[in-house]
Amino acid sequence: MTTQHSRRDFLRGQVSRPAAPLMRPPGAQTGFSQLCNGCGACASACPEAIIIRHEGPAGRSTPVVDFSKGACTFCGACAEACDTGALSAQAVPDWPWRAIITDSCLSLGGISCRSCEDACEPRAIRFRLMTGGRAAPVLDSAQCTGCGDCAATCPAGAVTFEQPAPAAEGRA
Ligand code: SF4
Ligand code: SF4
Ligand code: SF4
Repeated sequence: MTTQHSRRDFLRGQVSRPAAPLMRPPGAQTGFSQLCNGCGACASACPEAIIIRHEGPAGRSTPVVDFSKGACTFCGACAEACDTGALSAQAVPDWPWRAIITDSCLSLGGISCRSCEDACEPRAIRFRLMTGGRAAPVLDSAQCTGCGDCAATCPAGAVTFEQPAPAAEGRA
């Protein structure tokens, strides 16, 4: 049976949004949470120490990437260390995440900050001058590798990540 939700349900907040996907380490395979046994080998292998434990249901912990701790070099050490098939070294270059700068950005509020621009090696972040001494960060997602350097350096925690929608299949 399918559930139909009315617009009124949404306005009342009675329809829950699907949970945001977890940022699994590079090379994560479809069915990751079933394949991963929570051994922690990936986290131990990461030279940047950016893989932490995510506590799931029934006390089961699985790895996620935390860019507040640093950036990913896409070295593949995490995937190489995974014996279960949850991470594949071949799939490390397929990292699906890209940065987004939110309204918490200091520069948008008129406070001088260009930390993310300075940190971004591919030069995916530029600033557009606005009125009142403010400057808006402009992110070129085609240049962004999703490395997390900007998030690691942002003093305001203003950088978040999303997976751009995959190319629509079967759509005109
Ligand atoms: S690819 Fe390298 S830096 Fe990135 S999470 Fe894996 S081990 Fe860490
Ligand atoms: S580092 Fe953060 S606060 Fe500073 S300009 Fe970039 S997004 Fe804004
Ligand atoms: S994730 Fe990396 S490449 Fe993308 S904007 Fe941030 S620093 Fe630049």
